Amino acid sequence: MYRSIFNKVRAIVPKISDTELIALRTGDTHLDRHIFEGNYRIPKKLDKHETKFDETRITHLLNTYGNHTVYPSQDTQQIFNVLGKNKFFSYLIPEEYGGIKLSTRELSNVLTKISSKNLGLGVSVMVPNSLGPSELLINYGTKEQKQTYLPGLADGSFVPCFGLTGPNNGSDALGQIDSGVVKKKNGKIVVETTLDKRYITLAPVSNLIGLAIKLEDPEGLLTNGNPGITVFLVEKEHPNLKLETHHNPLNIGFPNGTVKGKIELDLNQIIGGEENAGNGWKMLMECLAAGRGICLPATANASSKVCTYNIFNYIKHRTQFNIPLIKMEGVSNKFADMVYNTWLIHSSIAMTNDILDQNYKPAVISAIMKQQTTERARTVVNEAVDIHAGSAICLGPNNFSQKFYQGIPVGITVEGSNTLTKNLIIFGQGLNKSHPHIYDIYDSIIKDDLVAFRASLNNMIGHSLKMWYKSFSPFIKDNLHQQTIDFAHLSNIVALLGGQIKSNQSLSSDMADILSNLYLGYSLVWYQENHSVSETLTNYCLKRLLYENSILFNRVIDNYPNEKVKLLIKQLKRPQNSIDYNENRLLMTELLENKNIMNHIKESIFLDGAALDLERLDTLDSNSNEYNTLLSKCVSVGEYDN
Ligand SMILES: Cc1cc2nc3c(=O)[nH]c(=O)nc-3n(C[C@H](O)[C@H](O)[C@H](O)COP(=O)(O)OP(=O)(O)OC[C@H]3O[C@@H](n4cnc5c(N)ncnc54)[C@H](O)[C@@H]3O)c2cc1C
Repeated sequence: MYRSIFNKVRAIVPKISDTELIALRTGDTHLDRHIFEGNYRIPKKLDKHETKFDETRITHLLNTYGNHTVYPSQDTQQIFNVLGKNKFFSYLIPEEYGGIKLSTRELSNVLTKISSKNLGLGVSVMVPNSLGPSELLINYGTKEQKQTYLPGLADGSFVPCFGLTGPNNGSDALGQIDSGVVKKKNGKIVVETTLDKRYITLAPVSNLIGLAIKLEDPEGLLTNGNPGITVFLVEKEHPNLKLETHHNPLNIGFPNGTVKGKIELDLNQIIGGEENAGNGWKMLMECLAAGRGICLPATANASSKVCTYNIFNYIKHRTQFNIPLIKMEGVSNKFADMVYNTWLIHSSIAMTNDILDQNYKPAVISAIMKQQTTERARTVVNEAVDIHAGSAICLGPNNFSQKFYQGIPVGITVEGSNTLTKNLIIFGQGLNKSHPHIYDIYDSIIKDDLVAFRASLNNMIGHSLKMWYKSFSPFIKDNLHQQTIDFAHLSNIVALLGGQIKSNQSLSSDMADILSNLYLGYSLVWYQENHSVSETLTNYCLKRLLYENSILFNRVIDNYPNEKVKLLIKQLKRPQNSIDYNENRLLMTELLENKNIMNHIKESIFLDGAALDLERLDTLDSNSNEYNTLLSKCVSVGEYDN
């Protein structure tokens, strides 16, 4: 009997390519696994956080270069020298190589603070501290490579970049990637490659370039390692390497450009040496499993916090029709949207940093964090611009929202564009990796292991029955817990669609959003349990989030492609209440009365200029000349002579 089920299951499981399989096998799971198990579990917080970072470095940096364009600019070299000398590029590098290795929490705070003032500077600091030469060398480099490069990367004498993308390989990163052929030339084995990389951040200023290429070995010359995706390290002076042109990403002012040229590489330039030939994709995926959850979320944190904090102070003082904007419900409802999304970003980053600091590398969570935080920050910034109105649209020193409005698409696009991440990766990878039994079933099929298949299938059936039964339980009073069980049950039913899930992206993206929202929901509870900021705000956000989810649950059920199977999930269409008008009003009162909330929101952002002016309005007598002069300075963002 099991053989016939085995054959049926084998026929419906999606085809998984080798590269997808590597992605599935790298990184680990955490809260995502508990959610797929249907378990309500608030993660434990680390007892202690180490503090190594000296804040005065950032204050000095931002006071000096906060308003500078990093690139293209006459100051580029000087800025990079300062960043390097002050060890801003060294936060992944262990002390023994001269680095200041920071915890995830500290790294995230540093990146948030720098980006909150200057996005171009933030990106410039981010790249050396994220996926790229340093991280790859630390994890896979030979002893000699580490000694040669890590001290220089730590003090900025080497400025790294990493080239994967080209004109024909974007989201499908390996599809038409540059190839390199292993050849014997004058008795020596070399790799000949023609590079055509674009969009490479820091390339125009970089002198140490990580390169991912597809290695081909038609003559079987490799004695160690294999053909396939391979990561090389190349210095700028390498013969025929061309770093000659740059792009201009939305005028944000950071270096981004091309890496081209027909070059010859040595096998000892492979990170980790020849034995790592063919290992490149695994190396990249392992680093991405944690890294994607840190840097872009930090920029999303910066943009949403700056906008929310400043708009809060702005709408308290800007009046129209003799009423402060905050008293107008049209404005305060938009502001509630901003606070809601900012709080979700803030709480989820705090919880995720804590998880990463416990040395987990949760691949699905990092994809959720990248997609959710950058997407929600877009909502925050859009609402901020609507409220800030003319002051957002006209450029000038007091316009605090424009740079974030301009920069939002960068976070949305890079490190796995959000459309791809949401529609294909989060739920697809979640089902295969975070689900407690599906990977085991898949693995038993690949290995043609009927005994393992039988055990895994029995586990899967047991889990499905348990979730189905629990979904009827009248004893579960907590909505987050209820939705966790409902999601686990629904996932088991959706899994029956097998390979169809990959092409039914409407369904996959709704399932991804439900999973992501549950993760964010847990972070709200985690944050409140550990920081006790505001029950009112936590309950507001949780109710709104779970209402968003109930719409998604209903849509998945309504669109489930098999009418008979639909009967097994129709009990999940539960009535949920949306936030009512009065709850938005109560939230505004809470924001005005509970100063703790804004104190947490302004944590780790750099406040100067317009932000401090807006803050100061609260301390002045609104009938005074000083107040009126300062208010009009805040509102008129900048005037220029004709
Ligand atoms: C400012 C900037 C900095 C960058 N820095 C670097 C760097 O340092 N190093 C590097 O190697 N690369 C870098 N990149 C490249 C970046 O990773 C790619 O731009 C990104 O992967 C998207 O590729 P693409 O722009 O070609 O879009 P495309 O791949 O053409 O995608 C177009 C659209 O289709 C969607 N899509 C594609 N496939 C699917 C699918 N299967 N299902 C659903 N939707 C899909 C995408 O989400 C996107 O919305 C950078 C890019 C930018 C803009």
